[in-house]
Formats: sequence, C-alpha cells, structure tokens
Amino acid sequence: MTGRIRGVALALRLAGIAALAGGMALPGCAPVDAPSAASPAPRSGGIEWIDVHAHLVGGRADQGEDYRGAVAAAVAAMDEARIRKMVVMPPPQVRGMPGLHDSDRFVAALTHHPGHFAFLGGGGTLNVMLQEAGPERAIGDGLRRRFEEQALAVLRQGAAGFGEITAHHLSQLPDHPYESVPADHPLLLLLADIAARHDVVIDFHFDLVASDMRSPEWLASPPNPPLLRANLAAFERLLAHNRKAKIVWAHAGSDMLGHWTTDLSRDLLARHPNLYMSLRMGPGRAPENHPLTPTLEMKPEWLRLLQDFADRFVLGGDQFIVSPSVRGGGPAVIFAQRAPRMRERTRAFLDALPPELARRIARENAMRLYRLQD
Ligand SMILES: [Zn+2]
Repeated sequence: MTGRIRGVALALRLAGIAALAGGMALPGCAPVDAPSAASPAPRSGGIEWIDVHAHLVGGRADQGEDYRGAVAAAVAAMDEARIRKMVVMPPPQVRGMPGLHDSDRFVAALTHHPGHFAFLGGGGTLNVMLQEAGPERAIGDGLRRRFEEQALAVLRQGAAGFGEITAHHLSQLPDHPYESVPADHPLLLLLADIAARHDVVIDFHFDLVASDMRSPEWLASPPNPPLLRANLAAFERLLAHNRKAKIVWAHAGSDMLGHWTTDLSRDLLARHPNLYMSLRMGPGRAPENHPLTPTLEMKPEWLRLLQDFADRFVLGGDQFIVSPSVRGGGPAVIFAQRAPRMRERTRAFLDALPPELARRIARENAMRLYRLQD
C-alpha cells in the first residue's frame, strides 16, 4: 500500500536517505519480564519495521541536555534491529516534573539524521494543560484558545500528530506520575477536532478500567488511588466525537489491569473505525492479554484479531533511548534498560506472523497512518 502514502511534507517533516551513525552503546540490559526465544524461525525474513512510539531522554536543560546524543543512540539501535523509522515523542508529563520537555527541545537534533525520524508533540505542553484542567469539565475560552494555539504550534514544528497524551496513566515507579482525567474531557474533544482537521494522529496512553476495581497490590497508592473507576464509556465518547480523528491507543498487548482483552479490542475496533492500536511487546502486568506465549509463540486469538483488523495495528515499542551523557536515574533511565529486550521481542513477534501480515503491521500501516515518507 506504499502507493497510498501521501506526499505533502510540512516544513520540518524529516525525509531522506539513511545516514547511519555507528557504534554508540546503549544502556545495559536489565532483568526482563519473560524468557528468551530459543531460535524462532525467521518467517518475517528480517523485514524492517517502524517503531511509532519511542522516547528520547536528553537530560535536563539546567544540566546541559543532550538530545543529539540520544538521537545518535537511537540511530545505532535502529541500525542493529532493522528499524527503518522511529516516531519519537515526549512522554505524557505533568507540571513540576524534572526534565519536563516537549518536542521543540529535540526537533533540531532529528534533522541530523534525515529519513530516520518523525515526531509527535504535546506530551510536555498539551498534556500538562489537560491534567491541570483535571476533572473540571467547564473550561474557559482563554484555556481553550491557549490549548489550540499550542496544538497548532506543535504542528508548525512539523509534527505528525499529538503525543503522548493520556487520560489515565498509572504510576509504576517513584517520580512516575499518576494522571487521570475523563477521556471525553472538552480539551480532548477539542484535540480530536484539531487532529481531524489536520489529518494527524493522537497517540493516546489509556490504562483501561472496564469496571470499577480496587488498585492491585503492585500499584502503590498513593499516588495511585485505592479505587480505580471505570473509564471505558468516556473513551468511547471520545472515539465517537469526531470520526476523522485517528486515535492510536498505545501499548496494546501490554495490559496493566487485566481488562484489555482481545474480545474487548475486537469489539472496539469493529465499532470505532477511527481507532488504531500500537503494540508493545512487553507482557505488562496481565500476560494473559499479551500476543505471545512465554516461549514467544503467537496466541491463536491474537492472530485472528490481527488478521481481521490487519490495517489497524502498528508497532510501538515504547523504547526510551538515553543520551550517553545523561547521569542519574529516574523512570526514563530505568525504562531504557528494557529497550533492547523490547526490540528482540518485537522481532520474535514479527517472525511469528504470516509474512504478508507482518509487512502490514511492521511498516505499511505506519507509513499510511502517520503519513511518513520513504
Ligand atoms: Zn505510554
């Protein structure tokens, strides 16, 4: 379906030929969640893939940030893992976080590697405004205007959309925020309208609670609340609000609370044609909802889902790539230790798919959905 790639690049949309940087080491591999493959049959033929959900860790501005180093490390990892492109984005942040940043801080560093990257923005600005507005549904004209102006500023930088935006984000580590707003918040409906108007995506982190539940024990509360409230109906209202808004629900197959089943995905994909899912190849906290068995074989219910909705899935590894000059810890540095394992598991996932389906999920859907250029 490469013929359907649309051609108009915004000023800073990054295209061109590969210019691979060599040899920069990635952070060492941490203990991982599941056993390694013995040696899976290479059914995907080692095809290149596109990671539509990655984060650059460049350090804090007041300590001399280094996004060029993070970008070079990303390029080295892409070369090694046959990743053709990455869509990088700021995580969904809140005010006061150390290292708070948006896409404007790393966009210049991407230009040194034409053809490798596209980016999303708003995780360090729009998401901050959204979380600050909080549960308050009545928003003033001033906030509405500022939000829209910021969204347009992100697009003027050349962003392929908005991300990472969240309406429910669990805190998994110290200094990793808990965030929760109604998924049909007026600022999210506004963002859907802006995304629709400009034909760009929204990358949406949304820890699903299908029905009210107590927080599981592994989730320390606070900051997570002891009781998690059902949030699916509000998400469906967001999806239905503007059918031209392409919403990519991040971290599919990497469920945290046990509610994001293949049956639920099938039902939502059937009823919401503007819903897409990006697959993260970590089993999360609910391995029963992960596509791969512990020995890295494809589960039949997942294969059926992927085949029935073959144009709605992309790969989003959630790789955090750290500049070698970043010192100190924090959630991003801890998450970065999982990235090499994520790349291995993504390859195993592609190898476990029929080749035609692997090609669509690995590349073609991402090219079309994010309007990427070869
Ligand atoms: Zn996320």
